Amino acid sequence: MLTGDPMRFLDPKPFLQAKEIVHAGLAFFALTSLTIAWSRFSGGLALVWPGTAILVATLLPQDVRKWFPILTAFALLSWLATALFGFGPKVAVPLAIVNVFEGFVITTLMLALRPQRDWLESVSGLQRMIVSVVLGTSLSALPGSLLAHWMVGESWKQHGLEWLVGHGLGTFLFFPLALMISTGVIKNQIRKGSARETIECSLHCASIAVVCAMAFFQDTIALLYLPVVPLMYASFRCGRIGAVLGVLIVATFGAVSLSMEQGFFRQIEWTLAGEVQLLQLYLAILLMLALPTTVALKQHKLLLAELREKRALECLVSDHTDDVLLNLDPRGHIRYCSQAGHRLSGGEDVIGEPLTILFDPLDQQLVRMTLVQAKENPETTRTLERAVIRDDEVVWLDTKLQAVPNPDLDEILGYAVTIRDVTNRKLAEIKMRREAETDTLTGLANRRALLRHLEPRLCHAEIRPFFIVLIDLDFFKVVNDNYGHVTGDQVLVNVARAMCKVATPECFIGRLGGEEFAIVAEGLTLTNVIELCEELRAAIAKLQFDIIEDADFRVTASLGVAAISSAMTPAEALSKADQPLYAAKARGRNRTEIAGARNVAQIYPLRVTVA
Ligand code: GH3
Ligand code: MG
Ligand code: MG
Repeated sequence: MLTGDPMRFLDPKPFLQAKEIVHAGLAFFALTSLTIAWSRFSGGLALVWPGTAILVATLLPQDVRKWFPILTAFALLSWLATALFGFGPKVAVPLAIVNVFEGFVITTLMLALRPQRDWLESVSGLQRMIVSVVLGTSLSALPGSLLAHWMVGESWKQHGLEWLVGHGLGTFLFFPLALMISTGVIKNQIRKGSARETIECSLHCASIAVVCAMAFFQDTIALLYLPVVPLMYASFRCGRIGAVLGVLIVATFGAVSLSMEQGFFRQIEWTLAGEVQLLQLYLAILLMLALPTTVALKQHKLLLAELREKRALECLVSDHTDDVLLNLDPRGHIRYCSQAGHRLSGGEDVIGEPLTILFDPLDQQLVRMTLVQAKENPETTRTLERAVIRDDEVVWLDTKLQAVPNPDLDEILGYAVTIRDVTNRKLAEIKMRREAETDTLTGLANRRALLRHLEPRLCHAEIRPFFIVLIDLDFFKVVNDNYGHVTGDQVLVNVARAMCKVATPECFIGRLGGEEFAIVAEGLTLTNVIELCEELRAAIAKLQFDIIEDADFRVTASLGVAAISSAMTPAEALSKADQPLYAAKARGRNRTEIAGARNVAQIYPLRVTVA
C-alpha cells in the first residue's frame, strides 16, 4: 500500500531535493567504503553497516515513483565501495543488489506499518521501525551470507550472523540520525532552536563525552553503564536530538577505544569482530533506552500543549457565555462555577454547596436522582428541564450533566454540568401550544386540546369514571341566515362565556367545532351533572341578543350526557354522548338527554325553569 505521498505524517518537509539525494549518496558511499575497509576483520562481511539506514532514510521521504533511480544509484555506489574496498568487482554486483534489496524491503515495510506520527515519536512507531529492520535484514541475510560463503568459504551460518548483527544493529543505530537529517528535523532545530536550547544541548553532549572518556579509557573498574546517566538526562532535556547525538558520541568513544584497544576493550580478550559486535549491541541498548524516553517527553509536551489550548478555550467560553458551567465533586457539590453561575445564584457564593441549591426545593430529589443516574452511566448526558423562581419571576433552566469517569478506579472524578436559561424558549413554546390548542373565536379549548385532555382520563375511566356533555345550539343555521355570520359569531362567543360562568372547577370546556361544545366533568355525580346541564341550558336560553337593530332573538341548546366508566377511544366516548344529543334534537330540542335514560325529566325533576 504505497501511496504517492508516503511522508504526509512527517514533519517538517515532505520531499528531498536532488541536491540532498546526491549528498545522501555521497554519505552512503563514504560510510560504506569506510566500514568495509575498517570492519572486515574476518575477511568476509563488514561488521558495521550504516549504509542501509542512509538508503531507507533517503527513500522514506521520497515519492515512490522516484525510488527506482535512487535504488539504481545506491546499487552502483554500493558496488563501487565493495569493488574498491571489499570482495572485488565480480561479487560486488550481487552483493550490491542484496544491499539495496534490503533497503527497499525495510522502507516498504516501514511504510506499510506506517505509524500515526513519525517513527521516532511514538512507542508504536519505534516498535514498527524495529520490526521492519529485523524482517528486512533477516530476508537479506540469507543471500548475503551465501555470497560471502562463496567468496571466502567458512560457515554460511557464521556469515549470516555477522550480516544480521552488522546490518541489523547498524541500521537501527544509524537510522534515527539519518531520518532526522533527511526530514530536516536537525536543520529545523538548529534554525528554530533558541540559544539557550543550543547551549543546553551542547553542555549535555559535553558531559556525555566526559563520562565516556572516563568509562572507555580506563580499565581499573568496569564503568560502561556510566554513560547511561548523562545520555538519559540529555534525552530527557533535549528530546530525540539529545538521544541520537548522545548515542553518536558514545559510539565515537567506543569505536576509538576499540580500534586503539584501550580501556574496557583491552581488558576483554575477544576477537576484534566479537568486540565490534559487542559495541554495536551496547549502543543499540543505549538507543533502546533513550528513544522511548524522548517519545514519552514528546507526548507529554503535546499533551501539555493540547491541555493549554483547551484551557484557554474553556476560560474564554466560560467567561463570556450566558450558560452556567459547573464542575462538581463526586458528591455533587460545586467545585467550580463560571461567571454566569453567580447571576443564577443571585450573587451568592455557591462553591462547596450542593447542586440542588440552584433548583426549586421541590425538585431536589429529582436532581439527586439525575446525579445518581449520570454516575451509573458516565458515557451519557442527562438532561433536566425545570423551572425556578428568581426575583419573583419564573426562570426555566435546561441542565445537562455528565459524570467524569476515573479510568484507574471504579468511581468518578466528579461531574461536568451546564445550565442554560431557556425561559424565552419555554414561554414561546407554552404560548405556541396554547395558541395551537385554543379556539380563536371563543377562547375556549379547541378540539385538539379537548382530545388531549380526554385521552389520559379515558385510560383510567374504569377507576375514575367521569361524564361527557355535548352541547349543540338549536337551529343555528337560521341565526346565520337571518342575522349574518358575524352576528352568529358573537352568539357563539356569548354562549361560550355563559358556559364558563356556569361551569364548576371540575369542568373542562371546549369547542368541538361549529356550534358544538363539549364539557368533560370529573368528580361529579350524575345528579350534579344534570343540574349543571339544566343550569347551562337555562343560561343559554336566557341570553338576549339585540346586536342588530330591530332584531331581538334568543338561542337554545340541546345537551347529551354520557357517563364514561370503561376504557375507550376519544371517538367512541364522543359518539356515546352524541346519541343522547341526537335524541334531544329528535325530541324537540332545548332539552337534556342522558345516554341510557329516556329523558332527564324521568330521573331528575326540572329545577331550573326556562323562561
Ligand atoms: P340543529 O338544531 O339540528 O343543530 O340545527 P343547526 O342549524 O344548528 O345545525 P346545522 O348543522 O344544520 O347547522 C350548523 C350551522 O352552524 C351551520 C353553519 O352556518 C353554522 N356555523 C358553523 N360554524 C360557525 C362559525 O364559526 N360561525 C358562525 N357564525 N356559524 C357557524
Ligand atoms: Mg345545531
Ligand atoms: Mg351542529
